[in-house]
Amino acid sequence: MTTATSATPMIKAAGVNKFFGDLHVLKDINIEVPRGQVVVVLGPSGSGKSTLCRAINRLEPINSGEIAVDGEPLPAEGKALAALRADVGMVFQSFNLFAHKSIVENVMLAPQKVRKVSSADARKTAMQLLDRVGIANQADKYPAQLSGGQQQRAAIARALAMKPKVMLFDEPTSALDPEMVQEVLDTMINLAKEGMTMLVVTHEMGFARRAAHRVVFMSDGEIVEDTQPDEFFTNPRSERAKDFLGKIL
Ligand code: ADP
Ligand code: MG
Repeated sequence: MTTATSATPMIKAAGVNKFFGDLHVLKDINIEVPRGQVVVVLGPSGSGKSTLCRAINRLEPINSGEIAVDGEPLPAEGKALAALRADVGMVFQSFNLFAHKSIVENVMLAPQKVRKVSSADARKTAMQLLDRVGIANQADKYPAQLSGGQQQRAAIARALAMKPKVMLFDEPTSALDPEMVQEVLDTMINLAKEGMTMLVVTHEMGFARRAAHRVVFMSDGEIVEDTQPDEFFTNPRSERAKDFLGKIL
């Protein structure tokens, strides 16, 4: 066991390479996310943002390099992997809630199965989390009875139920109707204010400007810029970032 201190980055990727067949999708990726920081990952479609998120909690194996969460190198498999993966909460574009379980049951499930928490304790924590994301009054409904924004907030509560050390968000608002985007972003901003370490892939520039400590810009599997949000938006250095911003702003 390594001993993590407050100076240990919550996420550290060093020299990470990933191939899909001949396609080199992560090219010597080096990134550190200190605890309590919010890092927004931007970049065109296909640049490797999702693969990076998936690599960080080993949903996707890497070909070389190292990834550590809170100072612990991620093991390739087995029980140690399950334990470390539980430290990393992940929220996807598609909410992936269990359709045949109520909202509160969705949030209770993983703590009971993985952390062996009792049903009563799991329910208590789940209700607190649903309250925190503003949908405690929806607890006994089924996912299909909720709006997209409410379902995504339930997915955030479900991830938080495992008491993760870090949260990864992969385009959490991309599948939502426009009027529901803000409620999910507000939930994420609250989480950031509470000090959660977050890596957020998003095209929501308002969120990046308001909540990000740093912006990482990816293109073609490379980290092209890693800088302050203000700096990135007003003074992007690379042609690729200028081109990207020109298309989305
Ligand atoms: P982004 O999230 O930035 O849009 P991805 O990480 O999803 O990019 O994809 C990066 C590249 O890897 C793309 O060229 C994509 O087509 C490719 N890719 C992603 N997943 C797979 C896979 N399972 N098999 C083969 N190629 C993949
Ligand atoms: Mg993606």
